[in-house]
Amino acid sequence: MKKLLRGHYLILGIIAGVILGGIVGSFYPETGVRVGFLGKLFINALKMIVLPLILVTITLSIMKVERMGSLGLRTFVYFISTTALAVILGIVLVNLIHPGVGGAVLTGEIPEIIKGKENMSIVEVLLLEFISPNLFESAAEFDVLPLIVASILFGAAFAALGRENKPVVELFTLLDKAVMKVVHWIMIFTPLGIFGLIAERIGLAGGGSQVIALAAELSTYFLCVVLGLFIHGCIVLPAILFLLSGRNPLEYVPHVGKALLTAFSTASSSATLPLTMEGVIDEAKVSPRVARFVLPLGATVNMDGTVLYEAVAAIFIAQSYGIELGIPQMVIVFFTATLASIGAAGIPEAGLVTMVLVLKSVGLPIEGIGLILAIDWLLDRFRTTINVWGDCVGAAVIDKYESEGQGKV
Ligand code: ASP
Repeated sequence: MKKLLRGHYLILGIIAGVILGGIVGSFYPETGVRVGFLGKLFINALKMIVLPLILVTITLSIMKVERMGSLGLRTFVYFISTTALAVILGIVLVNLIHPGVGGAVLTGEIPEIIKGKENMSIVEVLLLEFISPNLFESAAEFDVLPLIVASILFGAAFAALGRENKPVVELFTLLDKAVMKVVHWIMIFTPLGIFGLIAERIGLAGGGSQVIALAAELSTYFLCVVLGLFIHGCIVLPAILFLLSGRNPLEYVPHVGKALLTAFSTASSSATLPLTMEGVIDEAKVSPRVARFVLPLGATVNMDGTVLYEAVAAIFIAQSYGIELGIPQMVIVFFTATLASIGAAGIPEAGLVTMVLVLKSVGLPIEGIGLILAIDWLLDRFRTTINVWGDCVGAAVIDKYESEGQGKV
C-alpha cells in the first residue's frame, strides 16, 4: 500500500479524477450530479477522521514540545506576515485593475447564506469562536477552532504533569499512528472522490459552458482574484519557501500535490487536513513535532487566499456601487479582512460570510455580497488551494527555524 501511496500512482489517479470529473460535469451535467455520491462519501470520510486527527495530533504535539513559546511565536509571526503580504497584494491589484468600475450598474440582494449574520461583530467572529461551551456541539457542526483550543489546553496540562504523563504520551503516540493509518486508507479513495466532487459541482452549475458564462459575466473581478492568488501562490510563497527554508519549491509541490488538489475539489481546508498532514510529514519530511501544531492551526486561522479575496471583493463591491474608498478606508479593509480571514472556518464559502465584517467596517452595503455570490463557489476552490499551500510552506519554514533554534532558546 505504501508504494501505492508514495508512488506517482495516486497523484496521477487524482489528476485523472479532476480531468474526468471536469469532462463528465461539463458535457453530461446530469450524470455529473448522479456521481456526486462518490464525492460525498469521500468528504464524509475526511470529516470523520479530521476531528480525531486534530484532537490527537495537537495534544500530542503540545505534550512533547519543550519550547512551546518559540514554536507558538514563530507560527504567529509566519501567519501574520504572509497574511499581510496577501492582503496588500489584493488591495494593490484591485486598485490597479478596477474590476468594479465602468461595468453594468449592479444591484445585489442579501444572500440566504448571510441572513441572520448581518450584525456579526469582531468580538463574535474572533473571541467567541475560540471557546465553546459545548465541544460536542462544535464537533457536530465541524467547528474545529474550539477543539484546537481545547486540545492545546489539555496538551499543556499533560505537559505540566511532568513524567507522570508517560502513559498518556504512549497512548497518544499510538492513537496518532492509528489515525494516520486510517488517513492512508481513505486516501486510496481520493481519485474517485475528487472525480465525484468535480463532476457534481460542474453538473450542478449546468455544465461547462454555464461555468464559463458565469466567470465571463464577472470576468474582470474573477481574473483579478485569480491573478492575485496566482502571484501569491506561484511567486510570493515559493520565494518565501526557498529563501527561508532552503527547500526547492518545485520539489516541495509534488509532495503536497494531493492535498492541493483535494483543497481545490473540496473547497475546505479543514476537510483537506488529513492529506496535508500526510504530504507534509510523510512525504516532505517536515518534523511531525512542528507539522502537528502548525497545520491544524493553519487550516483554520491562516488563510492567505481568503484574505486576498476578501480585500479584492470588498473593494470591488465599493467600486460597483460607485463608492470611493480613500487610504484610511483601505487601511481599515487591511485590518478587517485579516480578522475576517482568521475568523473564517476552513469550510466552503466561510469567507463569503465573514465578509460582512469587512463591508460593515467601511460602511459598504451588505447587499453587495449578492453581486459576487454566483461566482463564489468557483473562486472558493482557488483560494482554498492557496490557503492550504500557505500552511504547507509555513510548516517547512517554521521547521527550519525550529531545528536551527533547538537548544538555543
Ligand atoms: N473555503 C475556505 C477554506 O476552507 C474558506 C473560505 O471560504 O475562504 O479554506
